[in-house]
Amino acid sequence: MVGEQFLLVPGPTPIPDRVSRAMSRPMINHRGPEFREILEEVTAEVKNICCTRDHLIIYPSSGTGALEAAVTNFISPGDKVLAITMGVFGERFADIAASFGARVERMAVKWGQAADPDMIRERMLKDPNREIKALLVTHNETSTGVYNDIKMIREAMGEHPALFMVDAVSSLSALELKMDAWGIDVILSGSQKAFMIPPGLSFMTFSERALKASREADNPRYYWDVSLGLKYLEKGQTAFTPAISLFYGLREALTMLKEEGLENIIARHKKYRTLVRTSVRAMGLELLAHDNHASPSLTSVIAPASLGSNRVRQYMSEKFNIVMAGGQQQLDDVIFRIGHLGYIRELDLLSVMAALEITLAQLGHDITLGVGVSRAQKVILENI
Ligand SMILES: *Cc1c(COP(=O)(O)O)cnc(C)c1O
Repeated sequence: MVGEQFLLVPGPTPIPDRVSRAMSRPMINHRGPEFREILEEVTAEVKNICCTRDHLIIYPSSGTGALEAAVTNFISPGDKVLAITMGVFGERFADIAASFGARVERMAVKWGQAADPDMIRERMLKDPNREIKALLVTHNETSTGVYNDIKMIREAMGEHPALFMVDAVSSLSALELKMDAWGIDVILSGSQKAFMIPPGLSFMTFSERALKASREADNPRYYWDVSLGLKYLEKGQTAFTPAISLFYGLREALTMLKEEGLENIIARHKKYRTLVRTSVRAMGLELLAHDNHASPSLTSVIAPASLGSNRVRQYMSEKFNIVMAGGQQQLDDVIFRIGHLGYIRELDLLSVMAALEITLAQLGHDITLGVGVSRAQKVILENI
């Protein structure tokens, strides 16, 4: 087939040529002045994206590594932890905390729905002895395409002193997230989603309060130890050998993000959400997430039951070389997920909607060609 595979999964996402070229540079000494300059620059920029002046450590790991880093540094065995779960990734965060000995209470939200801040408020009020040490929440649940209102959840915690930890792997730099202004203690993220670079880096941003808690927390830790990480950061180094190539890529990607502007990027992702949702609805398909909490970074589409989502994905892949994600666990063969985060253009989404219409028509779904595409065109026209 002519051309590259078009990757439309919610991570890894497409990489700009500028980033690829930056990553091909030769190795440098990671304990020398060149690396120091890069580390200091990207640390400052990622903090800007988190809207914080607090601490940041960048690990050579996938996003899950950062989730584990948060648990080992800030939670002790026996601590009570409240985990809001609404899909695969919320469950994972809860599982990691449980693996390290926390007493995890899960507030399970139906898959496809968002957390209810009022329920969290109620639960926190029922904890007068402040037993709950941490609240774990997924910002953007990638398995369902639902995002949580982090600001409202933080407000619902009121004066409760539990550490507020947010998994923002598929949202940081695509959705608004204001660490200092909203009072978030820990933000975790990864490189392969909205940052436009390959997998392999994770980010952990944490407040002074969290740092203090880490000094008292007594889970075993070595590789993830924040005290060690911060000690080296003062010298312009990482504790262990960093993924140098990915740092080149990150620096270039952050330059691109700065050129576009965070506000514009956030607006662009919201526009993609509108484009995909109106277009797919016009094709006669249903969406998993309600409009009020639909993710700007990916859309979960319910395939016609007679087709199944995996057949739709297979045809898109074989005929058009477009790779979409399937549903995970209970949503397997029910939904397909269209990632529209990071280095994605309107043009890409227009062509994907056109290909999806052909696929549906070919598989026997009753559709008039052009119904979805024309809606997508309209969204673009209205936003010019
Ligand atoms: C992708 C993702 C993760 C896990 O990241 P890995 O890089 O696969 O370890 C965690 N949480 C969310 C919300 C994600 O989207």
